[in-house]
Amino acid sequence: MRLAATGLGAAFLFLSAACVTHAPALPGPEIEPRITALQREVLAALTGETDIRPGVKITNRFTIENKREARTYLAAQLSRIGLTPQRQSYGTESENVYAILSCGRPGAEAVVFGAHYDSVRVAPGANDDGTGVVAVLATARELAKTKGRTRDLIFVFFDEEERGLVGSRNFAQMLKDQNRLVHSVHTIDQAGWDGNGNRAIELELPYDGAVALYKRAAAALGMTMPIWETTETGSDHSSFRRLGFKAIGITEEYRHNDTTPFIHKAGDTLATINFPYLASTTRLMIQVMTQLANDCPPSVARSAGSACSCRARRPRGSGSSRGSCCPAPGRATGTRAPSATAAVRAAWS
Ligand SMILES: [Zn+2]
Repeated sequence: MRLAATGLGAAFLFLSAACVTHAPALPGPEIEPRITALQREVLAALTGETDIRPGVKITNRFTIENKREARTYLAAQLSRIGLTPQRQSYGTESENVYAILSCGRPGAEAVVFGAHYDSVRVAPGANDDGTGVVAVLATARELAKTKGRTRDLIFVFFDEEERGLVGSRNFAQMLKDQNRLVHSVHTIDQAGWDGNGNRAIELELPYDGAVALYKRAAAALGMTMPIWETTETGSDHSSFRRLGFKAIGITEEYRHNDTTPFIHKAGDTLATINFPYLASTTRLMIQVMTQLANDCPPSVARSAGSACSCRARRPRGSGSSRGSCCPAPGRATGTRAPSATAAVRAAWS
């Protein structure tokens, strides 16, 4: 943000107001074109419509070689948006890819948002689950631009959902082994089919309070589509629930008969994806993650100097004018340098 006011007094008033309200901008419909631009580009590469690296196309994300290409590509995408890609290897040639958007406060609660990047052998996997992957990626890109977050966000691409939620099970176990404080886990699977054009979504086995959270986010954005609640267990959210995490799945109208007819088929291609619907659901997820990332728990608010304590003005003249009344916001744990993409490519395979 650029200071438009001239004079120290005006600048001080401006900064004070910004810090007290601390309200992040709403992701309005104007951001949908840039969501779609990113999602089209990445989905095309993930489904063999375009090269995933010069001279290489992949027709599924099932074989070891193709999954390796997909991981390297996704790691580079995380790097491109300013995050540091990390890998969780388990088994043989099986890997989850993830990145942590830190709020800058050690020991902060985390919110997990993930989707599986693998597909079955016969399918390019555009809808299942390329759409979830690009929803997570576009959300990560928007959240990385925000300041003053009070929770960490963990964005993750799971391996081997199609083999029985194997990647997410390993990721859930890792979080448990690390004793990681996790507020909630959100996984998205199949989000690109909307035959009846009502833009509805389903929330799968939502934890207590999750439906209200999603409806509040939709209301904030002026979205009026149906938000259904189902008891579907067949995706990655189940892995986390089993280990005691609060979890929820997000999907198209899978149980309400408006879901892709091409699941696990060769026809699950880019051409079948409803990009405006995908962008709409992604925008809702950006708002949900923004709410969670800024929802300061009372215990945090009480601790002096924490990210939630920025209502106290810093005395005039102390420190720079930029963000003078707020502690340093959470920063992305990586570099935004475009050249990082090439470096990740080199280091990842
Ligand atoms: Zn799936």
